Amino acid sequence: MRAARTFSSSLFDLLYPRRCGLCGLLGDHAICSVCGDAFEPLSSPLTRFLRPEPLDYQAALYLYEGRAAQAVRRLKYERITSLAAPLAALIADGAAKLGLDSADMIVPVPIHWTRRCMRGFNQAEMLVERLPPELVASKALLRIKATRPQVGLSPDERRLNLLGAFAADSSVEGRRVLLVDDVVTSGQTARECARALRARGAAEVGVLALCGEA
Ligand SMILES: [Zn+2]
Repeated sequence: MRAARTFSSSLFDLLYPRRCGLCGLLGDHAICSVCGDAFEPLSSPLTRFLRPEPLDYQAALYLYEGRAAQAVRRLKYERITSLAAPLAALIADGAAKLGLDSADMIVPVPIHWTRRCMRGFNQAEMLVERLPPELVASKALLRIKATRPQVGLSPDERRLNLLGAFAADSSVEGRRVLLVDDVVTSGQTARECARALRARGAAEVGVLALCGEA
């Protein structure tokens, strides 16, 4: 019996060896230490804005290049979901280091349900998994309009593309909301989320992303 169990567990390891989701190196971690060390931290990760900006702050931890960008893309487009846990740990770490844990509501940036059906998950929801679960409100903000990808659009086209794309519910009233996303570049998506949250009375809205631009 013991021999059979050992055989089946080593067979399992042969069929599903643990590999780094980025370089393919065999090992115990979803992201190996060499790949993890290659994530380039942004030198000024936090920017604060003044009203009338809908966002109070925008934060990103790593440059959207190299291994960090590969991690985001592999999770989102190749569905390598083993990458979600280490990336969620980086988000939780970053939130604490940047002092963003004063937020009293955490909202993953939503994707439209049609995209969710195609992808099978919302990567932003996976990234909040190491933040306090009692603060996470994944249904407080919905993406009510299916939009074209923002890539390749001019700033005006981006704004128009996202106009009316999000709707928040009344649970956000008076809350200090921390949006979480995988990537923030122009910040247009986060700003549209913030507008929808503010329209429902959110007291503060900021965004924390894994990757951003220098
Ligand atoms: Zn690796």
